[in-house]
Amino acid sequence: MDSYQELIEGYKAFRHKYLQQDFDDYRSWAATTQSPKVMVIGCSDSRVNPAILTHAGLGDIFAANNVANIVPPYEAGRHSHLSIGAAVQFAVLNLKVEHVIVMAHSGCGGVKALMSSDESGEQERPEDDYIQGWVNVIKEARDAVKSEMGDRDFDEQCQICEMEGALVSIKNLTGYPYVREALEEGRLDLHAWYFHIETGELLNYNHEKGQYQRLVKAPGTMQ
Ligand SMILES: [Zn+2]
Repeated sequence: MDSYQELIEGYKAFRHKYLQQDFDDYRSWAATTQSPKVMVIGCSDSRVNPAILTHAGLGDIFAANNVANIVPPYEAGRHSHLSIGAAVQFAVLNLKVEHVIVMAHSGCGGVKALMSSDESGEQERPEDDYIQGWVNVIKEARDAVKSEMGDRDFDEQCQICEMEGALVSIKNLTGYPYVREALEEGRLDLHAWYFHIETGELLNYNHEKGQYQRLVKAPGTMQ
């Protein structure tokens, strides 16, 4: 089946569930405004949809996706990255979300582009100027990996950079005044997640231990 046609078939399933089977629930739900308690900032990658990963329902997740799940540093006055800044501002100030999750993942093409550029930000392929300009927003993650783990093989460096990149975005989030205020008042928690596509494991960064750990313990193991 054509991939576009598959979407239409999927929408038929949506209609069947929400507009027929569960119509009363849907109607009462649709009459309200959204009030999600969670924001997920994820990559545009087609394999890492947070709602599918967490079985979240309609209205549960306020989502912002971009290449390599990046949050740029806060800039007072004139802003360079309006899209993601607007999403964070709306989530924290208007929706008053209680959790913001930055979700990175394995095999990230954006991070690979970042790791393939040199320290001046020169890209391998000139036609990737938009991609490179964007991913360089978190070039400190690349620079840290190159300086501390430059002897590892390239794929391993990319994986470490994917994990490190989410932490840079978390750090950047804390620079937004309304995020900082919500954190100080205990109204908001920030989380860095890492989805390992090959194994299906979802990891969470433990700030106290300084490492990513499985979000859900595998059966029969200590972690
Ligand atoms: Zn990605």
